[in-house]
Amino acid sequence: MRLLHKNLCMIAMSLAMVSVGRAAPLVEPTLHIRPQASGAGRVALTLDACGGQTDDRILSALVENKIPATIFVTGIWLKRNAAAVEIMRAHPDLFELENHGGHHIPAVDTPQKIYGIRSAGSPDAVLAEVESGAAALAGTGEPAPKWFRGATAEYSPSAIAMIRKLGFKVAGFSINGDGGSLLGAKETARRIAAAKDGDVIISHINQPTHAAGEGVVQGLLALKAKGLTFVRLDDADADDIGNHGTTD
Ligand SMILES: [Zn+2]
Repeated sequence: MRLLHKNLCMIAMSLAMVSVGRAAPLVEPTLHIRPQASGAGRVALTLDACGGQTDDRILSALVENKIPATIFVTGIWLKRNAAAVEIMRAHPDLFELENHGGHHIPAVDTPQKIYGIRSAGSPDAVLAEVESGAAALAGTGEPAPKWFRGATAEYSPSAIAMIRKLGFKVAGFSINGDGGSLLGAKETARRIAAAKDGDVIISHINQPTHAAGEGVVQGLLALKAKGLTFVRLDDADADDIGNHGTTD
């Protein structure tokens, strides 16, 4: 009896180890663009439209100052922000729309919570999130997306491999401009203005009531004043450098 108990305990322990081993640590990939050989340098601005509304402070500053940007949109955001989508589509030289998922669900194929958001939880659910995001974009008449960025920008390595197989590159970043749109205007402006040649900035364009949006505009204008060039991810094709197998 005692032996049986001991054996059962060992089986339970090894099962626990297997399940821990299966949940590989999540990764938050970085992305850079190859630095310019000469000039003041270039940076890529990426803005997430997770859900919610449109920050017109940012959208109008981009149009007025002719600053190109890559916008990661979800199916949810596209549905609720037709006017902003029209403005972006009216400036195809400025805006590249890419895939931020159908429902803003983290591309993690094991069940867990990331920043309080429930992960997709299975390989099928990751596929559904990526494919429904692409389908929502196709419905707007935009070119087919080539990049994917999952909600929270964290991934299980196996999810990254699946997304790559679907033909998307996975968009990391090198500068977290607005801390999930939760930072103050001053700190956001400081982070963005500190971008250097080759950096990829992430911020949000869906929180019109947050102070961070004002900082995004100030930071971008500071970079422009320093003479940096803004490129979109499709301009930097073949010049992108992502880790964790996100672009190669
Ligand atoms: Zn998001």
